[in-house]
Amino acid sequence: MINALARLPGIGPKSASRLTFFLLNSTDDLPEDLVAALTELRSGIAYCQTCFNITAAGRAECEICTSADRDAQVVCVVEEPLDVIAIERIGAYQGRYHVLRGALSPIEGIGPEDLTIRELLERVRAGGISEMILATNPSMEGDATAMYLQRQMSNSGVKMTRLARGLPVGGDLEYADQGTLLRALLGRQDMGG
Ligand SMILES: [Zn+2]
Repeated sequence: MINALARLPGIGPKSASRLTFFLLNSTDDLPEDLVAALTELRSGIAYCQTCFNITAAGRAECEICTSADRDAQVVCVVEEPLDVIAIERIGAYQGRYHVLRGALSPIEGIGPEDLTIRELLERVRAGGISEMILATNPSMEGDATAMYLQRQMSNSGVKMTRLARGLPVGGDLEYADQGTLLRALLGRQDMGG
């Protein structure tokens, strides 16, 4: 158990030991809940065919894409499903998402065809989108991806906005605190489009 946990990112042997003994001594049903969640992790997950967020297996679309309460005219473009969770946590965003599943990186050989950019352009062509919020990470790759998308969308009639500065540069959106993320979202800037 300790060896397995120590292979997780951000968990060293010390934390792994602590977690293992915590579970060993737990008197509630946390260990059973974890077993169930881990079993489901492999078999119960699929990607939404529209936005590429994580959804339950057997569902074509995620809960956000199918919700009538969400504004289909606004699409927030993020790199990973974890970013969706981070933005959902602040509870201030009512639009929909598009998960790119990464960012452009010439160094790592990641080009537009490796991301879900083609699918995003298809969504725009299908119509009904008035604003695209580029919420890629405040990193070199995230900025390059936002610039690329803005160029692709010029003359599309879609208003392009980018999350305001103030997020830790080079950091991941998912690690930003809720207040910072909320300010970045509310203060998003028009990129022209
Ligand atoms: Zn979706």
